[in-house]
Amino acid sequence: MRENVQIVGAGPAGLICADIISAAGISVHIVDHMRQPGRKFLLAGRGGLNLTHSEPLEKFLSRYGAARTFLEPMIRGFSPEDIRSWCLGLGVETYTGSSGRIFPTAMKSSPLLRALLRRLNERGVRLSAKTQWQGFDAIPTIFAMGGASWPELGSDASWMSTFRNADINVNDFQPSNCRVKFLWSPHFATRFQGQPLKNIGLRHGSSHSKGELIITRDGLEGGAIYNLSHAMREQPTRDLHIDLKPALNADAIAKRLSQPRGKMSEANFLRKALGLTPPAIALLREAGRKVDAQHIKDVILKPQGLAGLKRAISSAGGVALSELDEHCQLRKMPFNYCIGEMLDWEAPTGGYLLQACFSTAVAAARHVIKNHAKPLP
Ligand SMILES: Cc1cc2nc3c(=O)[nH]c(=O)nc-3n(C[C@H](O)[C@H](O)[C@H](O)COP(=O)(O)OP(=O)(O)OC[C@H]3O[C@@H](n4cnc5c(N)ncnc54)[C@H](O)[C@@H]3O)c2cc1C
Repeated sequence: MRENVQIVGAGPAGLICADIISAAGISVHIVDHMRQPGRKFLLAGRGGLNLTHSEPLEKFLSRYGAARTFLEPMIRGFSPEDIRSWCLGLGVETYTGSSGRIFPTAMKSSPLLRALLRRLNERGVRLSAKTQWQGFDAIPTIFAMGGASWPELGSDASWMSTFRNADINVNDFQPSNCRVKFLWSPHFATRFQGQPLKNIGLRHGSSHSKGELIITRDGLEGGAIYNLSHAMREQPTRDLHIDLKPALNADAIAKRLSQPRGKMSEANFLRKALGLTPPAIALLREAGRKVDAQHIKDVILKPQGLAGLKRAISSAGGVALSELDEHCQLRKMPFNYCIGEMLDWEAPTGGYLLQACFSTAVAAARHVIKNHAKPLP
């Protein structure tokens, strides 16, 4: 017997969609070309699995930039609180971290993925692994084939040409939330790779960000620079300005630096007077700057460009939002939906990525249930 609804892609978007549709008693067939479902979701779990964020919804929605208008009704329809309840329904408790980010208590994806797959299996949802999508079909289909980062985990964007041949506008994929490359001296790279720069401010053109960075062998990564993804993609080699002490103005810093240093080394003095860490001091020196108040507030670095799509946390680009109605249904091909990261929206890290994947999936699922699929007799 053929199922009533087909879902292509067993990532978080495809799987929650299958969960909602099968809960309404509708038969679902999921296909995925990987050997196992949820490979990228499992990788996301290695960093703790930031499911969503607890900040006020108005602020939350602002994270989606130009895509807010499209996503807002769906996020209101399946909100951060709804994600928590859904997880709880699967036996997975969540908690809010000090930054406001929401994680599963176990800080990984596997318990949630296992519980979800078990429930789908109990409901008779068929999952065909190692099955490549072949082309548009006659039954209601929900595409959840992901973006284009970490292609070896499944989302390899191999579907793009088929979509474009069907006259669906798909924007090229580009890296988002990715490392930015800098040409470090061998000493700085070797001595400080892996070390954090905490509570710093960043400016790139007129875009600002705050938070934490990690020094890598050939660049910088972490939330503070990911927030600037969009701006840095536009002007990848424009100077990056780092404020090592955003909580103090230059006068306050100068006052602390004017205290007698005594026999302390410069590094020790800076640590005591300002709380500057060794990597922060080394970054100042790496930028060839004199250690004074002005430069502590404005370390200027020359980026060498963004690291590629392959190791980005997410991607911008994908199916143009103008191709979709408010239920994520393709305007040119009713009965066909696109959800999750394969759509052209982007957001910083902080749980906003999974939230949009889940919310678009639920919106499509509800519309399919209402309009295109009959429950099993
Ligand atoms: C290192 C890392 C850490 C991350 N951490 C977080 C985090 O903490 N919080 C957060 O919100 N987000 C995080 N993300 C992002 C998040 O994992 C993705 O946004 C999310 O997985 C996208 O879900 P999706 O279902 O749209 O696509 P995917 O998870 O990419 O799933 C797509 C599925 O479609 C299948 N597929 C693709 N093409 C075909 C085809 N032609 N035929 C059949 N099957 C196909 C793939 O095999 C895959 O299983 C992280 C990402 C990375 C790389």
